Amino acid sequence: MFAGPLDQSILRRAQEKHLVEIRVHDLRDWTHDRHRVVDDVPYGGGAGMVLKPEPFFEAVDALRQDESQVLLLTPQGERFNHAMACRLAEMRHLIFLCGRYEGFDERVRTLADREVSIGDYVVSGGELPALVLIDATVRLIPGVLGDEDSAGQDSFAGGLLDHPQYTRPPVYRELRVPEVLLSGDHKQIRRWRRKEALHRTLRRRPDLLDRAILSVEDQGLLSEIRTKEEGEMSNTGRGHEHR
Ligand code: SAM
Repeated sequence: MFAGPLDQSILRRAQEKHLVEIRVHDLRDWTHDRHRVVDDVPYGGGAGMVLKPEPFFEAVDALRQDESQVLLLTPQGERFNHAMACRLAEMRHLIFLCGRYEGFDERVRTLADREVSIGDYVVSGGELPALVLIDATVRLIPGVLGDEDSAGQDSFAGGLLDHPQYTRPPVYRELRVPEVLLSGDHKQIRRWRRKEALHRTLRRRPDLLDRAILSVEDQGLLSEIRTKEEGEMSNTGRGHEHR
């Protein structure tokens, strides 16, 4: 499950450049029986299997270093976000514990410094969630992305959603690229992008806007956006309906 994503594109290049080292371990390496069993039936009965504690404890004993943070992937954990990715990107050594089946024996939780979820849904194992955390974190390590700025411009990095992007052709199926982007006027392009990012965030994620640090120019752009919207609403008689 790890080979494909880790061997492609940005994650592959980050490893080739020695900006990150990623090792995948098989829990079965810390079993002692002939069949290398890592799961067992749940105490109290019920469907499915539960991952046994011993291989996790032995694996963490073997892998943990002074600077390690142990992260347990679980849908019951703290929801992963950009701020957490930034913190992880500054850490020297991370250990991801991936569950399967019905999950872990509860005692495994005592090994974790953090319990992390990728969202309010359940996937079949911790491998994909671990890959999500790894990808989001590694792209924030300085030098990983070709253009140093490109992670900084992404959604969430500056507290806002990213502005819309266009590429050639200028007209496709009667859909036009905004004129300002073809103008070559970089000051106007920068202003347009900032305004679109603010507009988009206001529409889709007003909760982000409440926490974002906004400049005086941003406040001005926002009031332009709000004034325009109020004008459009009163023209169409739509009151406070949201698009
Ligand atoms: N019975 C568990 C529960 O309801 O909390 C879910 C078990 S799930 C099928 C198997 C494993 O997938 C979990 O132990 C966890 O490692 C991983 N997993 C599933 N959904 C996840 C999510 N949203 N975030 C992080 N890990 C998840």
